[in-house]
Amino acid sequence: MDVSRWNTPVMFFPWPYVQEAIDQIDAQVYRAAVDLAQELHANRARSCSDCSRVPTDLFWVCVTSPNETWRSKEGCVGFLTICEKCRLQVDFLIDQELTDLHAQD
Ligand SMILES: [Zn+2]
Repeated sequence: MDVSRWNTPVMFFPWPYVQEAIDQIDAQVYRAAVDLAQELHANRARSCSDCSRVPTDLFWVCVTSPNETWRSKEGCVGFLTICEKCRLQVDFLIDQELTDLHAQD
């Protein structure tokens, strides 16, 4: 999926930044990682506001917030959900465990 040229409104992260996260997806572990993420977060994830597509039908990608957010202690790691049909960033679900792990690095 190439989102780098999508020009729909940015809800959480600029599209080229989202593309970087997508490019880092490891196909070997992606399905298992997303299954786990959905198990943890799908119950509080929003559906697409435009087409009502449910969270588990959206595209999930793990995103680590930009370096400057970590310097100001506002960094977080979470799962961005994307509606491919509407080209929208629907929700960003912060994963506390991954955030704590990243903060220790
Ligand atoms: Zn949608």
